[in-house]
Amino acid sequence: MFTSVAGRSVVVTGGSRGIGKGIARVFARAGANVLITGRDEDAAQAAVEELEALGQGTVAYLLGDVSTASACARMAQQAQQLHGGVDVLCANAGIFPDVRLTAMTEADMDRVYATNVKGTMLAVQACVPALARSGHGRIVLTSSITGPVTGYPGWAHYGASKAAQLGFMRTAAIELAPMGITVNAVLPGNVATEGLAELGEDYRMAMESSVPLGRLGEVEEIGYAALFFATDEAGYITGQALVVDGGQVLPESLAALQAAQV
Ligand code: NAP
Repeated sequence: MFTSVAGRSVVVTGGSRGIGKGIARVFARAGANVLITGRDEDAAQAAVEELEALGQGTVAYLLGDVSTASACARMAQQAQQLHGGVDVLCANAGIFPDVRLTAMTEADMDRVYATNVKGTMLAVQACVPALARSGHGRIVLTSSITGPVTGYPGWAHYGASKAAQLGFMRTAAIELAPMGITVNAVLPGNVATEGLAELGEDYRMAMESSVPLGRLGEVEEIGYAALFFATDEAGYITGQALVVDGGQVLPESLAALQAAQV
């Protein structure tokens, strides 16, 4: 059970670091052939070396900015050339610059929307023909709890973009269903990435204390949710959002979280 992705072609946008690399690792371990993307060559190359060392599946990278249609078209072509098509697209690339609403410029909003919303739509659009040919096409978006479920100061534009991904998903799921393609989303809570590590131990401890399970998520734990959506067994699930957050969104107040401490 859940072994159907072995040998399939998987594209992970933003797979060179963080959650995307965790997703790529989980698919590579499941025997998939993975193409990751990003803009920075050193990071992408290092990720491929790390993932290839697992000795399962094949892993390649392509540089490109998801906010441009031409880069997304190249990505789909490269997956076709290297791995014979696209069976799974994980539209994961995203940015989260921190700026308060009172200081936010149009350029700040445009930048976040270009990658997180337009980039998601362009990556999906570019891969749809190959996903349709696959006969079991799967699209998994990396959204967030921030926006669809919660808010966080500094991330008004980011939260709006992550909620926008879910709006996109629901219509895309209907439009692509006749092609046998499913579209679902994973909504991570606070996940331990390289970027978070740079914020220091105090920040990490503060974040952990707001999670009922008492720890941050691991990047692979987002990957496992993406992997599930990509399996044949999940073929009847489409247009759905799955929160993976250690229970972070559940307590109605700090008091509720503290009351659970024994
Ligand atoms: P990250 O560590 O900063 O990695 C982001 C990845 O996306 C990198 O590979 C980056 O590579 C790539 N990327 C960024 N902009 C791109 C663009 N325009 N075109 C192509 N690639 C681009 O971020 P992360 O924390 O793993 O976040 C990944 C996704 O998870 C995002 O969608 C984010 O919203 C979501 N998320 C993260 C968390 C968390 O706790 N970390 C929580 C909820 C949701 P380059 O910079 O080289 O392009």
